[in-house]
Amino acid sequence: MVEKTYELNDVVQMKKAHPCGENRWKIIRMGADIRIKCEGCGHSVMIPRKKFESKLKKVIEKNEAK
Ligand SMILES: [Zn+2]
Repeated sequence: MVEKTYELNDVVQMKKAHPCGENRWKIIRMGADIRIKCEGCGHSVMIPRKKFESKLKKVIEKNEAK
């Protein structure tokens, strides 16, 4: 199983691309719900953590500014 560790400001790829064609999402809020923002069009969506994890494909970029 692929390890799925993600943090705030990481860029992730989801199993389904956004309708705008982009499949890079930035995590902009973490909590019981996760808010991710499409890097293509700037649209953001809030999804429950469980659902986010089931739809997450991989983490593309780790946030390095700590
Ligand atoms: Zn988009």
